[in-house]
Amino acid sequence: MHDVSTPAVVAPQDAEPGPDTMIACESLVRIYQTGSIEVQALQGLDLTVGRGEMIAVVGASGSGKSTLLSILAGIDAPTAGRARVGRWDLLGMSRADRVRYRRHTVGFVRQQTASNLVPYLTARQMVDLPMTAARTPAKLRAPRSTELLDTLGVGACADRRPAQLSGGQQMRVAIAVALANRPQVLLADEPTGELDTATSAEVFEALHDVNRQYGVTVVIVTHDPEVSGRVERTVAIRDGRTSSEVLRRTAAADDGGTHMIAEEYAVMDRAGRIQVPRDYREALALTRRVRLTLEADRVEIRPDTGDRG
Ligand code: ADP
Ligand code: MG
Repeated sequence: MHDVSTPAVVAPQDAEPGPDTMIACESLVRIYQTGSIEVQALQGLDLTVGRGEMIAVVGASGSGKSTLLSILAGIDAPTAGRARVGRWDLLGMSRADRVRYRRHTVGFVRQQTASNLVPYLTARQMVDLPMTAARTPAKLRAPRSTELLDTLGVGACADRRPAQLSGGQQMRVAIAVALANRPQVLLADEPTGELDTATSAEVFEALHDVNRQYGVTVVIVTHDPEVSGRVERTVAIRDGRTSSEVLRRTAAADDGGTHMIAEEYAVMDRAGRIQVPRDYREALALTRRVRLTLEADRVEIRPDTGDRG
């Protein structure tokens, strides 16, 4: 059962990410310029992900999810702000470092299943490819491919090409490929978007397994409430900013069983800005100017009534 309480506020993490922090984005901005048109895909996004954590990122189409993932994957560069993954600063990276970062630190599963795979290679050959690029000796590559394909439940498909695999199998092979060089972070952009419910549950389980088994930090962009409802933390992006987080934990129920409690938090940036949900704003007709009052244990936001007393 889900019990979503009213938003509470979480303060952002410390400026210098500690050893337990794997991903730290602060006021991240990405502006795309096409001719005279400027699109602000990310408008000051804050995100902290702990080492070994598995989180979901949700948000409407066009909210900036894929942009965030491409930046974290080292494929795209931010316009401004801060983004650190492990020991890497994604804004100040040289080209050589970027290649190294993409090869060793992050694994990326792209939004379109087919774009992750090479049509004329078998599953085993595809997992082998990134290891060859990293100059891993052949005698280490073969057992690693076998292990990964087995872990992802596609060991029996090792000698098949993408066209001979189902959608779910293709996605699991893509995850194996992404994990070939033992990355610290696995990024997956809508990995279950093209799959039916049962297959999508299997792919989610596969991601959960590799998170537990290898301790890899996992960030999944998803539209799928089945997926976002099963991770402990879901971050919502709206208009290129982190707007809220849902934390889930299991609690004991009165009948002796357990149930899932989901609590929603608004995210506050370093300057103290938070986003008040639209339905709250509409309910109290909160517009441009609101009144804030500090109480002993809370801050109240009230509509501007025009009373200047
Ligand atoms: P999402 O993955 O949440 O659907 P995206 O990150 O793909 O969102 O896109 C965010 C915004 O940036 C959208 O308005 C999109 O049109 C725009 N955008 C994304 N990529 C580009 C690009 N390469 N050039 C111009 N605009 C882009
Ligand atoms: Mg997208």
